Amino acid sequence: MQTPMMQAMIFEGVGKPLVLKQVPLPEFGVEQVLIKIIACGICRTDLHVLDGELNKPKLPLIPGHEIIGRVMSAGKKVTGIKENDLVGVPWLGYTCGKCKYCRQDKENLCENAKFTGYTLDGGYAQYTVAFSKYCFKLSEHYHNAGSAPLLCAGLIGFRSYRMIDPKAKNIGMYGFGAAAHILIQIAIAQNKKVFAFTREGDTQSQAFARELGAQWVGDSSAIPPEKLDASIIFAAAGELIPKALQDLDKGGTVICGGIHMSEIPAFSYDLLWQERMVRSVANLTREDGLNFFDLLKSTKVHTQTESFKLSQANEAIAKLRTGEVKGAAVLVMDHI
Ligand SMILES: [Zn+2]
Ligand SMILES: [Zn+2]
Repeated sequence: MQTPMMQAMIFEGVGKPLVLKQVPLPEFGVEQVLIKIIACGICRTDLHVLDGELNKPKLPLIPGHEIIGRVMSAGKKVTGIKENDLVGVPWLGYTCGKCKYCRQDKENLCENAKFTGYTLDGGYAQYTVAFSKYCFKLSEHYHNAGSAPLLCAGLIGFRSYRMIDPKAKNIGMYGFGAAAHILIQIAIAQNKKVFAFTREGDTQSQAFARELGAQWVGDSSAIPPEKLDASIIFAAAGELIPKALQDLDKGGTVICGGIHMSEIPAFSYDLLWQERMVRSVANLTREDGLNFFDLLKSTKVHTQTESFKLSQANEAIAKLRTGEVKGAAVLVMDHI
């Protein structure tokens, strides 16, 4: 019998463009499901993998961790998900359940975690396999490419947002892309005032933030008209940490939502003094996902996406790098 094949964009090493290849359909284990992919979002983390800022990826690798797809087959030990279910596959692909962090309900910090599109093959392909316990079963409502960015941009934005004191009113968002454009809608629904900071002169993103209800928009170097109670930095620029602290009120928190950041310049202790805090957000837990999709039942979020074919992944990545994508870039799969 002929081996069933699929198309995938393959990463072979730092500095090389992704290559479109015909590869065998992946085999699934007893705890895994085989998924026919509808769409896969392109996350900034994918760029950090391709650029070698996140080292030791699986090689060759199929990147992508914002997957929406339909279950084709399920392994013998899979429970809770069955053939034909619509599922989302996020960044967290596997945890050991045994290490210190797993036992403390901090599976996002698991010492033996595996990550989709990094240490496990991901979604820049027509099909993928995933451990069923880490997939989110989704209602049919999410059967579209626009749902893909919810799986990371939405989820990581939400986890970052949950680190903020619920009483915080003025919230800064540094870097207005895929994550911020989803999170601003949630924050505004909860009566927060959002201050959106973009790259210098990025009037397109500033107009977009204003359209979505930002109280104030400006370049990342601009001083907002009011002190902020909390800020989330989505951009990978370390120099934004002292800047965000400068804009922060006493007792406020700066959350770093990205997995990688350039070096943070030295700054005066005065910026941190008065119980200001800086913290990073690492990965996600399955509980974050359940809470996030639960929240979306009552808070309607619209995702702005630009769609590309699988074979256009390199082009989409180039556009994301230069900030030309409004909202989120998504690869939409062709199936015969
Ligand atoms: Zn663990
Ligand atoms: Zn991501």
